[in-house]
Amino acid sequence: MIIAIDGPAGAGKSTVSKILAKKLGFLYIDTGAMYRALTLKAIQNNIDVKDTAGLIALARQSQIDLRNEKDGSLLISLDGKDVTREIRQPRITKLVSDIAKIKEVRQVMLGLQRKLGREKDSVLDGRDIGTVVFPDADKKFYIDADFKERARRRYKELRELNQPVTPQDIEADVANRDNIDSTREFAPLKKADDAIFIDTTHMTIAEVVETLLKYIKSPRHHVTTSPE
Ligand code: C5P
Repeated sequence: MIIAIDGPAGAGKSTVSKILAKKLGFLYIDTGAMYRALTLKAIQNNIDVKDTAGLIALARQSQIDLRNEKDGSLLISLDGKDVTREIRQPRITKLVSDIAKIKEVRQVMLGLQRKLGREKDSVLDGRDIGTVVFPDADKKFYIDADFKERARRRYKELRELNQPVTPQDIEADVANRDNIDSTREFAPLKKADDAIFIDTTHMTIAEVVETLLKYIKSPRHHVTTSPE
């Protein structure tokens, strides 16, 4: 079974996907972490975000792995090295969307994501899971929240990781990524027509997980449309 969870930054995707996967005994595939790992490698190799050919070559020669730990946490490795914490740094977040918009980079990640998802029942979270990576996913969700709330959540998350950020930095970052991710030419952030839309602005994490589980367990569901 494939469960696709898409939506913009700070909507709560990764938090609920992780809990959901653990509850269901599924693999959790954080596709954003893969783009982040590649961004880290680009920085380490001094490859500019405008050097498209260099970034494509880098993507093709990188070994990005994902491991679900017993406690439900996720370990990301790049060429055999644990980069789980490093990929959350603001310097990565700032550049990741510019790298993720390159078509050939996306093709490399797509191959990896499909391979992982086909091996085991999985929950995948990202921007294009229901539209491009697994258009035939068994269940599709599009999770969103008000802009201010998404920025607030991201800020809280980063402060908990001891990252030196200000609320203004975060608002600028979220707005910038929203813009690049939803206007890019290839696989833009978009609700799949058959995805269930959930506005998490006034919901707790437990409520979101509960709502998702209800839809997953019901054989049929009503598709709601995203407010334009
Ligand atoms: O989910 P997260 O915020 O970690 O994703 C980081 C970035 O990776 C996103 O802003 C987006 O540019 C890119 N991404 C993507 N497609 C996905 C997942 C993430 O383009 N499926």
